[in-house]
Amino acid sequence: MAEIEQIFRQNRAWASDRTDKDPEFFLRLSRQQTPKYLWIGCSDSRVPANEIVGMAPGELFVHRNIANVVVHTDFNCLSVLQYAVEVLKVEHVVVCGHYCCGGVQAALGHSECGLVDNWLRHIKDVYAMHRQELEGLDEAERTARLCELNVKAQVQNLARTKIVQHAWERGQKLSLHGWIYDIRDGLIRDLGVRMDDRSLIPEIYHFAIASEETGVPA
Ligand SMILES: [Zn+2]
Repeated sequence: MAEIEQIFRQNRAWASDRTDKDPEFFLRLSRQQTPKYLWIGCSDSRVPANEIVGMAPGELFVHRNIANVVVHTDFNCLSVLQYAVEVLKVEHVVVCGHYCCGGVQAALGHSECGLVDNWLRHIKDVYAMHRQELEGLDEAERTARLCELNVKAQVQNLARTKIVQHAWERGQKLSLHGWIYDIRDGLIRDLGVRMDDRSLIPEIYHFAIASEETGVPA
């Protein structure tokens, strides 16, 4: 129990430190949250979202899962995305992966780990799409590159959702970003896959929008 009690002691010290620096901090936060960013990251304990971007409570809406995957049948992730975009009106959605990702490493292997194997199938699919490039690399490079390609694929998956496409259709300011964090030096790198509209989404994934004469109701 000592370990658990320690957590509560740390919490009291943190809350007291916060209040000393800004007596209104918790009162202000209790009234509302107005984050500008939705962060979709890995559950890995070494990648704490707020901490690595130096943001305080209230500044970042966060969704984390193993290997930062965005799946169009995952109602958890989609609920977070919809709430962030339509209610909180975040202006940026960031998928931030990281090098040395255990989920990506497991997806490259063939061991059975339980339910998570179904989840990691999505990363195997990314591998299959880029097999030729990946098989030309050595093992370390291949893992690192798959971490990057996985982030890029998840940004595409975000753009293919109705939630994001409808936001763009309404003229809502919303940018998607793909970043990668390096556990070895603490730095984040932008993978240069920013999307601000539908222009980079393959047409088959476009939903009909009211301004287009498609004959299909929006
Ligand atoms: Zn990870």
